[in-house]
Amino acid sequence: MSYITDNIDDVYSKIKAACERSGRNPSDVTLIAVSKTKPFTDLCEAASYGITEFGENRPQEIRDKYKLLQDTDYKEKAHFHMIGQLQSNKIKYVYDTTVLIHSIDSLETAQAVSDFVTKKNTCVDVLLEVNVGEEDSKSGFSSDSIKTLIPKLMELPGLNIRGLMTVAPYVDDPELNRPIFRQLKQLMVDINSENADNICMNILSMGMTNDYEVAIEEGATHVRVGTGIFGKRDYMI
Ligand SMILES: *Cc1c(COP(=O)(O)O)cnc(C)c1O
Repeated sequence: MSYITDNIDDVYSKIKAACERSGRNPSDVTLIAVSKTKPFTDLCEAASYGITEFGENRPQEIRDKYKLLQDTDYKEKAHFHMIGQLQSNKIKYVYDTTVLIHSIDSLETAQAVSDFVTKKNTCVDVLLEVNVGEEDSKSGFSSDSIKTLIPKLMELPGLNIRGLMTVAPYVDDPELNRPIFRQLKQLMVDINSENADNICMNILSMGMTNDYEVAIEEGATHVRVGTGIFGKRDYMI
């Protein structure tokens, strides 16, 4: 036992409580342990305690940790999720080492990933990142632009669009982010109904250490918890 396993217990019980409050089934919520900047040994400790999904935001770090993973007992069970901004020259590090790219934040990024995987004769599962709060400092589609761009995005070969992702602002009171989570869910419902024959998105990646319980109450299927599991990190990276 360590602070990591204690934290995992704590997060699971909060997920369960949030599900009970909102009439949801805890098995419909996937916990992604965000291990970015943390040593591989921390990741192994979480994996030995049953965590299978890991979030990382730097492509080279994913490549390196993926390599290390191959020499462990968790190589079949553990999966990486790309949650950070993706430059086109870094796609090569993540397209076959991750199970889901959460951070398709523009038509250009979508096109670059599509071109790359098509050349490799493969395809990838992706989420579209939406800047729901319309913060200048954040990347992502605006809610309006995504609705107009969706037909174009759907045409791109090699991309399976599985859902939407957002990074809400850091706020002292997580209740303040509830409207953002509600809007992301509504956006997914709208896009699904307007394009019913061609798209079926069912993943909502929203909620971090500070606000994942509220996000679950609003329908998150994937929560990304870093600090709440692995402790504080260097936030400048
Ligand atoms: C770092 C990060 C997280 C985890 O943040 P915490 O507040 O430490 O839980 C979640 N999502 C994204 C996109 C991140 O970059």
